Amino acid sequence: LSDRLTETFRNLRTKGKLSASDVDGTVREIRRALLDADVALPVVKDFTAKVRERALGDEVNKALNPAQQVVQIVNEELIAILGGEQRRLEFAKNPPTVIMLAGLQGSGKTTFAGKLAKQLQGEGHTPLLVAADLQRPNAVTQLTVVAEQAGATIFAPEPGNGVGDPVRVARDGVEHARRQQHDIVIIDTAGRLGVDAELMKQAADIRKAVDPDEVLFVIDAMIGQDAVNTAKAFQDGVDFTGVVLSKLDGDARGGAALSVASITGRPIMFASTGERLEDLEPFHPDRMASRILDLGDILTLIEQAQQAFDEAEALKVAEKLATETFTLEDFLEQMQQLKKMGSMKKMLGMLPGMGQMKQQLEDFDEREIDRTEAIIRSMTPGERRNPKVLNGSRRLRIARGSGMTVTDVNQLVQRFEQAAKMMKTVARGGTPNIPGMGPM
Ligand code: GDP
Ligand code: MG
Repeated sequence: LSDRLTETFRNLRTKGKLSASDVDGTVREIRRALLDADVALPVVKDFTAKVRERALGDEVNKALNPAQQVVQIVNEELIAILGGEQRRLEFAKNPPTVIMLAGLQGSGKTTFAGKLAKQLQGEGHTPLLVAADLQRPNAVTQLTVVAEQAGATIFAPEPGNGVGDPVRVARDGVEHARRQQHDIVIIDTAGRLGVDAELMKQAADIRKAVDPDEVLFVIDAMIGQDAVNTAKAFQDGVDFTGVVLSKLDGDARGGAALSVASITGRPIMFASTGERLEDLEPFHPDRMASRILDLGDILTLIEQAQQAFDEAEALKVAEKLATETFTLEDFLEQMQQLKKMGSMKKMLGMLPGMGQMKQQLEDFDEREIDRTEAIIRSMTPGERRNPKVLNGSRRLRIARGSGMTVTDVNQLVQRFEQAAKMMKTVARGGTPNIPGMGPM
């Protein structure tokens, strides 16, 4: 028997490549999902072309249907573009580590400065916040408030000492940190509502003056299609080592993340997820990938399918069938697995060899599993292992315990016996069947 199953798996595995028609429909769906998520058009085009190429060269995966397999490729590629592993801040060998922020006005730089300071403070660092945004009258005040909330020290220009010259403030700030033994400097800078040359030159000058270890580009996740132009402008004008995606708590689906990562090749390092200083998270490429595609369900299903169809598991069940030790406990266990996999019908489509039977099962009632489970749960372990002991009084007890009727219990036992018989047939080379389905 084991040989037979192994053979079946081998056949499925060598079925060949995904076909163009398998791939194209799904790629079209993916394109739509990306555009819905506000990923920039050129990025979408590049991305789908790459996915299509890879999918066409891919071996057929036994546990997934072609659409799911393409989705899986998409997911992997998304994660790869979004940075694969999450990147952390790099600290300078000789403190202070200098971190400079850049980005449009309102993108969330000052807020992020406070969040980062608070986080670093909590990790035992002694960050100094430097107010190099002298563009707006309120900017220094805002950073002062934020620094206070974060419990961090702020370096701001004294009247008559460098007011109006953000480059000098930045340079003095780093010098101050060195003298006062702050191991990290966070430099907040000015932004404009749109990209402009003067702002860019100012940021570039600050960068030149303080030679930061990290330049973090802060971008509002809701920015949508503008993400590409803004990111490009900042990369050309200042360049940056990493990206902070802010306002991810809004309803943006995160397309900006993919656009920026894909266009600039820089890693996204932080996700800012609210107005409070605590609302800062490391960026997780895998979570963002599912958010962009909004495929939570499908991705979960794929994972579950792969677990459930683990080859070793299949062989283990087959072994039990062959040795005729399949019990109501196994029956229950299998049923729980089926339930975990969510929709019965969806799952049936993924079962190797189950395709033709799917139609027959269209009217299968999923609640049946719950009822069956309730009954089996009301049995003692001994009864589950050997249903033959189920006399009238035991059946009555089980019916009461599960809130079912004795007739329900009788039907279940009957179905189990029929299923077990059928599965034995399968084990000897007959047509496959699923436990719990009853006779078909
Ligand atoms: P800056 O001009 O780049 O310094 O941006 P600010 O830090 O001043 O942020 C602009 C506005 O966005 C402020 O009202 C912040 O409270 C808000 N903000 C910043 N980050 C977030 C975030 O992650 N989520 C939400 N909901 N609001 C944010
Ligand atoms: Mg600001």
